[in-house]
Amino acid sequence: MSTLSIERITKRYGALTVIPELSLLVRDGEFCVLVGPSGCGKSTLLRIIAGLESISSGRIRLDGEDVSEAEPIERGVAMVFQSYALYPHMTVERNMGFGLEIARTPRPDIRERVTGAAEKLRLLRLLGRRPGELSGGQRQRVAIGRAITRKPRLFLLDEPLSNLDAALRVGMRVEIARLKAELASTMIYVTHDQVEAMTLADRIVVMNAGRIEQVGSPLDLYERPENLFVAGFIGSPA
Ligand code: ADP
Ligand code: MG
Repeated sequence: MSTLSIERITKRYGALTVIPELSLLVRDGEFCVLVGPSGCGKSTLLRIIAGLESISSGRIRLDGEDVSEAEPIERGVAMVFQSYALYPHMTVERNMGFGLEIARTPRPDIRERVTGAAEKLRLLRLLGRRPGELSGGQRQRVAIGRAITRKPRLFLLDEPLSNLDAALRVGMRVEIARLKAELASTMIYVTHDQVEAMTLADRIVVMNAGRIEQVGSPLDLYERPENLFVAGFIGSPA
């Protein structure tokens, strides 16, 4: 069970309030897609949930446990970034298991988890390669694999496909959909691609200037946008 409860969090950078009193409940096993214009605070919100950024006020609970002050490693949250920072000198296998190495997971367990993740992401034949020998799509699969091996209770993906060209992105979308079905873990997925949002989401969260404009199923938002901003955003081309 992994329910995320964000309770009236505020984030300020000096005099600038980026997120004013935002609340959101993400249910166990839900695939939640976060959309909104550039600079509206999507990445900041994910970094806050992951513990990479502090909050000015409010609470964050995971399965009821208050993790607002917890270190990133203690939260059981994994994050995949837009620019997947793989270690260039390490093999795919070591890249995927490195987080577990640091956490002093026993070697046989690391092997088992890495193999399991590689199987899910069809990376088994690439385990011996280095990042420089992979395509963009393969590299992103390794970055996702690295997150999976940690068996996170919450999985955050920040525009993971936006660095890929259009053709690769379509293929990776299928990959993400497969992963969603297989992992059935709680996920928050940031994208500016409307097709991605509409096809992948259980619920879509529309953000604007640090606030949530509307939360609903893709159909809800499409058929019953609550305001002009949501209508304009959902209706506009990607
Ligand atoms: P998004 O991911 O939706 O494009 P971000 O979360 O990256 O938006 O940024 C939200 C706002 O916070 C932007 O106005 C950005 O300039 C600001 N911001 C982000 N990080 C910092 C920082 N470290 N210091 C000051 N302002 C920041
Ligand atoms: Mg961002």
